[in-house]
Amino acid sequence: MPGRSEVRVLILGGTAEATILAKVFHVEHSPERLVLSLAGRTVAPDLPGSIEARIGGFGGAAGLADWLAAERITHLVDATHPFAVGISRNAAEAAQVTRVKRVALHRPGWDEAPGDRWQRVLCLKAAVDALPEGARPFLALGHQHIAPFRHRPDLRPVLRMVDAPAALPFPADLVLGKPGDVAAETALFVANGITHLVCRNAGGATSYAKIVAARDLEIPVVLIDRPPPPPPPLLSSVEATLAWLAG
Ligand code: NAP
Repeated sequence: MPGRSEVRVLILGGTAEATILAKVFHVEHSPERLVLSLAGRTVAPDLPGSIEARIGGFGGAAGLADWLAAERITHLVDATHPFAVGISRNAAEAAQVTRVKRVALHRPGWDEAPGDRWQRVLCLKAAVDALPEGARPFLALGHQHIAPFRHRPDLRPVLRMVDAPAALPFPADLVLGKPGDVAAETALFVANGITHLVCRNAGGATSYAKIVAARDLEIPVVLIDRPPPPPPPLLSSVEATLAWLAG
């Protein structure tokens, strides 16, 4: 490992793991430079004040490569969401071109547990088709992924979003906010008469509460499978990634 003063890290974020990694590495290792990068999808992201952050795209793999070179980055951690395939591809390409050390922090997906009633589907379109006539689904998907549900006017969906959208592509009830704990998710599903949960197999602890709530309430889950993982090397935990950065 270069001397501490030579370590210059870019963490591509948008996940709870990325933020924790940035906080802990900053405190424990005081690198010369540590930047946490977000796409800018949420209006007021939860950012640690002590960490240097940058918001917005780089302009593809070439733009990211230019940025890595200009900022003399030595280590790149791709800690983006498992469904954010574009940025992960760009990160791998840019790291190869610039010879920056890269690793992907790729959290494991969820496994079906006793009591779960999962129907696994390969894509959003299949999730739309999996819902029975007249269902009241809770769509835990994010605003950029809901449009295909406009083809199912028989549904009475409930959506959850962090920021209020300017408009919805179809009639739906809107819940503003972030995922809660199991008690909060259970109360939300009961209060809204939810018959199905539709979500992606994102993995991680933060958004698992809704899966437990669905299990407890015996609500069927339409679970969208993950896209292929980023190119290796992959690490599955914040701890392993801290060790890689420090190693
Ligand atoms: P994506 O399709 O892979 O990325 C689209 C573009 O957004 C990228 O090409 C890049 O623009 C920019 N971008 C993405 N992540 C960035 C980052 N961390 N820093 C700077 N620019 C970034 O990603 P997505 O699915 O739209 O997700 C966007 C972000 O939201 C990701 O950072 C991800 O971690 C987070 N997120 C995604 C999901 C999801 O379900 N997809 C869920 C929760 C959080 P340029 O090409 O201009 O560089």
